[in-house]
Amino acid sequence: MKCPFCGFGETRVLDSRVDSSGFTVRRRRECLKCKGRFTTYERYEFGPIFVVKKDGRREKFNREKILNGIMKACEKTPVTLDEMEKAVDNIVDTLQKSGNLEISSVEIGKLVMDQLKRLNEVAYVRFASVYKDFREIDQFLEVVKELKSNK
Ligand SMILES: [Zn+2]
Repeated sequence: MKCPFCGFGETRVLDSRVDSSGFTVRRRRECLKCKGRFTTYERYEFGPIFVVKKDGRREKFNREKILNGIMKACEKTPVTLDEMEKAVDNIVDTLQKSGNLEISSVEIGKLVMDQLKRLNEVAYVRFASVYKDFREIDQFLEVVKELKSNK
C-alpha cells in the first residue's frame, strides 16, 4: 500500500492488533522513505446483496423486511423475537457464505421457509401459503401433509 504522504510503495508495519470485536485488524504503518505514519484497517468485505424479484427488478437485501415477514408468519405463536432474529441471522449467514451478490426472491423465500420449518409449524404453513401463492386448497393440504410426513 502506498504512503499517503509521499506515495512511496513500501511501508513497514509497526504494530498490528485485532480490535475488541475480533472482526477488525488495525495496523500502524511507517513509510520507508518519508517515515510518515498512518493506520490501515482490515475488515471482512460484506458487499451489498441484491435481491432479484420475479419481474427482474433488483433491490438491496433488507434484513428488516425479512424479519417483518417472519414476524408476521409467527404472530400468535410461541416463537420468541430472539428466535426470529436468529432465523434472520442464519439466512444472512447463508447468503454471505454463498458469496453470491445476487439472489432471487424465490431463493430467499426458500431460505425463510427452511428456518420457519424448524421454528414453528403454523408459522411455516402461513408463510408457505403466502409465498407459494396457493390458489387451490389441495396445494395447501399438500404442504401440511408433507410436514406431517417429515416427522
Ligand atoms: Zn512516505
